Amino acid sequence: MKSHGYAAHDPKSPLVPFNFERRDPGPNDVVVEIAYSGICHSDIHQVRDEWGGSIYPMVPGHEIVGHVTAIGSAVTKFKVGDRAGVGVFVDSCRVCDNCKVAAEPYCAKGMTPTYNGRDNNGDIVFGGYSNNIVVDEKYTYTISPKLDLAATAPLLCAGITTYSPLRHWKVGPGKKVGIVGLGGLGHMGLKFAHSFGAHVVQFTTSESKIADAKKLGADEVVITKDADALAKHASSFDFILDCVSAPHDLNQYLSLLRLDGTLCLVGLPEVPLPVGAFSLVANRRSLAGSMIGGTSETQDMLDYCAEHNIVSDIELTPIDKLEEAYARVVKADVKYRFVIDMATLPKG
Ligand code: NAP
Ligand code: ZN
Ligand code: ZN
Repeated sequence: MKSHGYAAHDPKSPLVPFNFERRDPGPNDVVVEIAYSGICHSDIHQVRDEWGGSIYPMVPGHEIVGHVTAIGSAVTKFKVGDRAGVGVFVDSCRVCDNCKVAAEPYCAKGMTPTYNGRDNNGDIVFGGYSNNIVVDEKYTYTISPKLDLAATAPLLCAGITTYSPLRHWKVGPGKKVGIVGLGGLGHMGLKFAHSFGAHVVQFTTSESKIADAKKLGADEVVITKDADALAKHASSFDFILDCVSAPHDLNQYLSLLRLDGTLCLVGLPEVPLPVGAFSLVANRRSLAGSMIGGTSETQDMLDYCAEHNIVSDIELTPIDKLEEAYARVVKADVKYRFVIDMATLPKG
């Protein structure tokens, strides 16, 4: 099947228009015409090969929403014209212990990422900065007509990546929860933690984001370079979700955890971060991590958002302004997720 989009060909050059082929839809596949595609900081890490091992040409994009234009003969969840979403992975082995409990991001054989990876035939997979995508319906999500479609795109990564750990660590009423970094992931973490009924403290390096953080649901906002403000929260948090994309001091946040508290990393800085043993042994603290969320949990999250009227705060961008959008994300200057309007994609 013919497709076209924007691709990176190496870590340094801007993305450019690119024509490519996708597999023809099989019995279990849906073809989604992409309406909107979110820009995740992971796109930038991978385009620029900051984690190593990037595969080019790379069509990024794993926050995908659109409409179904064709279905395979065995598809039951979708009909032509339905809204559909695709997230960070498009397949997994389906039979390992983790797949069997719908924890597919932790598939023992490795999940198939939406882009920057290869499918079972060894072919490069291409993501959502494109006009269409072919995905097995098991890895495709239904989207309520109640949700604004463009603002739903970021739920497919930023949404599920924050929803999953907040659910896993049972964030809710009576819990004091911190969110570190008010970017794409952080602002969704803040919305969910607030919606689940926790007392939420937003940590930010950006004084300009204080008012927004309160509007998004923060009970308190702490500027991270203010040592006195941090000290007031020492040993008081049940759970802190760290959504920061760049190197920073984890010990500063570990010291804020109460007895048995957990600091969970979802941010993926490109270098290892030093952790002092004393930061952990005090208060019997845990340092954890979490990756995206499974297929059932992703559908649960989308349904929860429809029920509770939660979407992302977005800035729509045309696809020929990717470089400007990337530069602003890296400067922590996005309110709070860029979404590409795929109607601006030139014909292939
Ligand atoms: P983003 O929109 O760029 O947000 C990152 C935020 O981190 C910024 O807005 C900023 O918040 C803060 N920050 C940036 N540089 C900083 C620095 N030098 N020191 C301290 N704080 C800094 O990025 P995102 O799309 O939310 O992604 C965040 C990270 O999560 C990325 O590393 C991404 O690759 C990773 N990620 C992980 C998963 C997973 O499954 N675990 C899934 C998706 C993304 P303030 O202005 O408020 O300080
Ligand atoms: Zn992402
Ligand atoms: Zn598996």
